[in-house]
Amino acid sequence: MKAKRLLIVGGVAGGASAAARARRLDEQAQIIVFERGPHVSFANCGLPYFVGGEIADKSALLVQTPASLHTRFNLDVRCSQEVLAIDRAGRRVRVRDLASGRDYEEAYDALLLSPGAAPLRPPIPGIERPGHFTLRIVPDAEEITAWLEEMPKGRAVVVGGGYIGLEMAEQLHRRGLAVTVVEALPQVLAPFDPEMAAWLHQELRAQGVTLCLGDAVAAFEPPAPGQSARASVVVLKSGRRLEADVVILALGVRPETELARRAGLEIGALGGIRVNDRMQTSDPHIWAVGDAVEVRDRVTGAWALIPLAGPANRQGRIAADNIFGRDARYEGTWGTAVLRVFSLTAACTGASEKTLRQAGIPHLALHLHPGSHAGYYPGATPIALKILFAPDTGKLLGAQAVGRDGVDKRIDVLATALQAGLTVHDLADLELAYAPPFGSAKDPVNLAGMAAQNVLAGDVRLAQWHEVAGIDPATTVLLDVRTPAERQKGFIPGSIHIPLDELRARLAELPRDREIIVSCQSGQRSYFACRLLTQHGFRARNLTGSYRTWKTAQPA
Ligand code: FAD
Repeated sequence: MKAKRLLIVGGVAGGASAAARARRLDEQAQIIVFERGPHVSFANCGLPYFVGGEIADKSALLVQTPASLHTRFNLDVRCSQEVLAIDRAGRRVRVRDLASGRDYEEAYDALLLSPGAAPLRPPIPGIERPGHFTLRIVPDAEEITAWLEEMPKGRAVVVGGGYIGLEMAEQLHRRGLAVTVVEALPQVLAPFDPEMAAWLHQELRAQGVTLCLGDAVAAFEPPAPGQSARASVVVLKSGRRLEADVVILALGVRPETELARRAGLEIGALGGIRVNDRMQTSDPHIWAVGDAVEVRDRVTGAWALIPLAGPANRQGRIAADNIFGRDARYEGTWGTAVLRVFSLTAACTGASEKTLRQAGIPHLALHLHPGSHAGYYPGATPIALKILFAPDTGKLLGAQAVGRDGVDKRIDVLATALQAGLTVHDLADLELAYAPPFGSAKDPVNLAGMAAQNVLAGDVRLAQWHEVAGIDPATTVLLDVRTPAERQKGFIPGSIHIPLDELRARLAELPRDREIIVSCQSGQRSYFACRLLTQHGFRARNLTGSYRTWKTAQPA
């Protein structure tokens, strides 16, 4: 039988993963990988850490080379070669060798597109000025470090508070630059809910990073005489002007679909290549994976663009399986992601509260602040954990966590729970590994499940941090049940104070004609108080996440 000819466009996450899998499935196939850039299979996720110096050696980023891929997998990897056009009828691609400028054609039986996504460069006046950088490939990182080497201390403006923007802010700060992050939204990290992103605002500010939130760049101007900015003066819509010695443009990415578009492949409403669950495009001989494709959001069912390495790698494998006759499916995305912001880790999976609200999906939101491990063992730190679940079945819909330790582990457990379709009842029942340095006999994930069960059972009703500002004292009382020492450090204005241990004896001080919203530090003692109050005939709700969540969500 004639050997199958598989051509792959893009040799990094999705492309390289598909190529290696293809070889493992078919020793005879002819597999050619075209990569426009100078490197294949490099660690784009490591680039910010190379800029900051945490990854000192560039060679660590180059996970594979064309030679190593040839030796191990007998792949024909062609760097600095750009695929210019697809002739679908003739099943051929036209390729340009960027070094020589020579064009040539290659025929395919199957074509896999993994061209990724390009950093956005909106038409802001002055955006092309020198000293402005985007970060996608190794040469971008080298250009940034070369620019910074001439300027060890200086002022950096990072435009965009997404994952790459925040990682770059951290790494530029590590290099000794004074960093400002400009973000058009009122919060960093759009996939997180505002009160969760607020933990990162606190941390960034505590580390000396200036945040300009809810403000967008209007223009990049050349420095005026007397101004020392090496790159630009960044003019914000608010009128604020920031002198910048370097500007990092981290405004998000756009799927690279030009090739697919020109070939007449179906493109979705979000601008990504449309594929079925086998990663096959509208042409049965062409597959597409990674940042360039639209995928289904598994909670809302809506199409989504998810530029993350895990999905790209898994989709590459799935596409190769299908190309070589197996039946493999990509069921969609949970958007599970994690990043480090200085001493904090932030991670999320599934839908946020914002997304559920927009999609009109009924949900309940619960906040808690369990310790990363047993409180009696040294070094435990709180995790701000939020879960979202269905009010009828208790099915988990999403989770977010921020903390110093143990965040990734909890979100990964919750991501697994989401995929398995587990409910909060299942979370309460999960048997998770425990010893004091690692967790608690009731792990934060168990606690989240148990707290949610209490809500579903009707044992307690919840109030949310954002309701507090609109409370009418004629109908509602805020009750703080923390200790006097805790209250002395700060409290919700207008709240009355009765420590939990005095509550039973002081019930007469509370009104029976008004609802009582109870808070403590994290929401646990206020739950105990709610149980006490409801059993004594009061109408009480627990402020979920309590003072910690409310306080963090307040404007700085
Ligand atoms: P890519 O890996 O971008 O590969 C596409 C390749 O195709 C490119 O190298 C491009 O040159 C090539 N190409 C495009 N068009 C053509 C053409 N016509 N001909 C030939 N070649 C072509 N994700 C995470 O999950 N976690 C992280 O921590 C993380 N950090 C990141 C940090 C940075 C700085 C960046 C840039 C991305 C990060 N990502 C992270 C995202 C992750 O890298 C991407 O989701 C993933 O690489 C997408 O894989 P892909 O194969 O779709 O595209």
